Amino acid sequence: MEKEAKTPRPIGLERVKKWLYAKGPGERSAGCVLCGSCYGHGPVNPMEDEPGFKSKCPPYEFYRFQRFTPKSRWLMAQRVFHGLDPVTPELKEVLYTCTTCLMCQEICGVRNDGYGPWDITVAMREEIAAKEGPIEAHRPIFDGLKQHNNPWALPKDKRGAWAEGLGLKKLGAGKSPTLLFAGCSADLPSGRAGAIALARLMKQAGEEFVILGDEESCCGLYANDLGFRAEYHRLQEGNLRALKGASIGKIVVACGSCLRIWRDYPKEAMGAVEVIHGIEYVERAVREGRLKFAKGVAKKVTYHDPCHLGRGSGVYEAPRNILRAIPGVELLEMERNRRWSWCCGGGGGVPEAFPELSQWNAEDRLSEAARTGAELLLTTSALCHRSFSQCRKPALPTQELLEFICQAI
Ligand code: SF4
Ligand code: SF4
Repeated sequence: MEKEAKTPRPIGLERVKKWLYAKGPGERSAGCVLCGSCYGHGPVNPMEDEPGFKSKCPPYEFYRFQRFTPKSRWLMAQRVFHGLDPVTPELKEVLYTCTTCLMCQEICGVRNDGYGPWDITVAMREEIAAKEGPIEAHRPIFDGLKQHNNPWALPKDKRGAWAEGLGLKKLGAGKSPTLLFAGCSADLPSGRAGAIALARLMKQAGEEFVILGDEESCCGLYANDLGFRAEYHRLQEGNLRALKGASIGKIVVACGSCLRIWRDYPKEAMGAVEVIHGIEYVERAVREGRLKFAKGVAKKVTYHDPCHLGRGSGVYEAPRNILRAIPGVELLEMERNRRWSWCCGGGGGVPEAFPELSQWNAEDRLSEAARTGAELLLTTSALCHRSFSQCRKPALPTQELLEFICQAI
């Protein structure tokens, strides 16, 4: 059972309470106004130039029952808070089908301050984890985090294997103001390419950098999104401790989800440490003339905005700027791009708990990518790569964007 950690932001039903009774102007007093924008098939806001798409919330589109909408999750949290409903298996099913795509947070005009529609889903997961521990499907992730500091339960001697043969320096063995944070997925076959390519690109750009290797812990993505607050704070503290005294000024991450979590670490603890994604690093290095595209790549490609890199961190243009700068590359956009990007189904513990929803999401996205006429789909987040590589009907091949860029250097 999860032990509650002291946090500035209340957890579980306390967070629901804060939203329900928030009265200060700073907190805004409104909650969900039942507008339906976060899942409805009409335009999000008729006043906007771009009315948006019919498909918004993946679990709602898959199950097509009202209870799977962000709005319903908010209403259910309210009823549980007031003791009108218990946490039933049916309610849990609704809460754990959220893929953490962040579309409802993007759309909801009411609040996006830690008490928005997606935050309330996480708050309810925190409540369940604190009272009952993880749901059965998430038990291996929870145990992996607790025992090995990563969701895949990889023992220490299996961490950092992605860097073998690359001649990289570990923090402690070398002093450097830059840290490459690979992410737990770099030690899985589906997630390795991004970290390896990023290390190659940083070396090519003449960057002095270190890695954490077998000392690297999870950024806290799963612990945060599945509601394991004590684990989240323990992992965050461990990562912050690793930085202390190391004079790190910049962290370059290989995964879009790591970026979202690292950027959410407390500002007072991070100080002036800058956190950027590898693709932002590459864009900067090209602009500064430290990286040059010496070779062309004649290919029609499309780019999938990972939910946590795009909506979660606001990185939309860097990947496109790079792709447009590589000679020979033709970038074909999917209909749902940038803030409207459709989820791959890989987040929120959904592949583990509701594989059929996750599979449908990945198939739907890959079919959309194939309809552009592209030969290859590029993306740059470990969970998206896992989803696409496990898709039973891959409509086109996929590749890590950073790895693709290496061919042009
Ligand atoms: S969660 Fe936000 S967007 Fe969705 S129905 Fe409520 S107010 Fe509207
Ligand atoms: S984060 Fe995505 S999947 Fe979860 S409730 Fe919001 S729109 Fe639906």
